[in-house]
Amino acid sequence: MKWMTFFSAILVSLLMAIQAVAATEGRADEELPLHAQRLSDRVLVTWVGDAMQTIKVVALKTAKGIVVMETNLSRAADARIRTTIEKEFGRKDFKYLINTHHHHDHVCGNQVYHEATIVGQRAIPEEMKKEITGEGLVKLIDKFKAMLPDWEGRRDRAAADSRENRYFAEGILWLRTVIAELQEGFKPAFPTLLFDKSLTLDMGDMTLELYAVGGTHSSGDTMIFVPEEGLVMVGDMWPEQVLPYLRKEAPWDLELILENWGRIVEGGREIKHVTMAHSDIKLSVEAFKEQYRYLKTLWNGLSEMRRQGAAFEEAKKRYAIWRDFPFFKEKILKVRDVNIHENNIEAIWAKLPAAKEPGPVGPERP
Ligand SMILES: [Zn+2]
Repeated sequence: MKWMTFFSAILVSLLMAIQAVAATEGRADEELPLHAQRLSDRVLVTWVGDAMQTIKVVALKTAKGIVVMETNLSRAADARIRTTIEKEFGRKDFKYLINTHHHHDHVCGNQVYHEATIVGQRAIPEEMKKEITGEGLVKLIDKFKAMLPDWEGRRDRAAADSRENRYFAEGILWLRTVIAELQEGFKPAFPTLLFDKSLTLDMGDMTLELYAVGGTHSSGDTMIFVPEEGLVMVGDMWPEQVLPYLRKEAPWDLELILENWGRIVEGGREIKHVTMAHSDIKLSVEAFKEQYRYLKTLWNGLSEMRRQGAAFEEAKKRYAIWRDFPFFKEKILKVRDVNIHENNIEAIWAKLPAAKEPGPVGPERP
């Protein structure tokens, strides 16, 4: 009996040691939950976390290989997502990874798809270098380190079981992982297949149309349309709840944005899903189309008024949300005391060329 007890004691301590190793190494019990959603047989959307927002990665199973759109801030999350894609599709032939813009929360996991060609708008690599290499990377890590104690305090102050508590609990886990990952083994992977205005990738049974719509959220913003699946990806451009906002100081070219956006909305092809990158942000097909119609109407209408020499005071009165764009009347129409609609009219007006002064009268033409 004595010996049995002795062996049992050894066994128990051995098991405890194994559990302790598992808890510190794998943190399996502390991983954020992983979600996978099929939009169709060939389209898989995968993300981690319940309460906090991360990035929804969209994967396409095509005749010429797997195409992935977006990655996360945490490459551990992307490694889990990659494994899920492989399992779901039963293949591993990653052909392309597409970045919708350069922001760090969308590109740090790029290295997980090391064999894929990374595709992006031409402005993206330089902007990525500023954010996630050299001094930019040091700043980013310092920012996350400073956020940690703040988030821990906020989690502790939030009521147990509240959404806020869950948000910060997940966020703290996320931050700790990300800080460690950015300090060790992080290799920024940049897009190498670059385009200016648009690019079409022929995947055999699927076509990917990439359109540059940069200048409002970031310089390299890209919308992706897959007509065979009626699928649109918009990155971080305008969410459902808010009227599209044209910041005056931002370098957008609305004519180019609308030309490209119009190829998706007015091309006569069905749109079934519109996906925003962040896991907690929705955008309906209707809102996506209404956003386009709103900006297009303002751009065309105000351009015409400007050409005809109208005064700005007239332009301001020409379009009202409640009358001309009632879809948006219940949406967020103000940010930090700025009336978004009035701001947009002013912003567009300022970018339009002034009406030409009547020039000297030339020789009469036959
Ligand atoms: Zn962004």
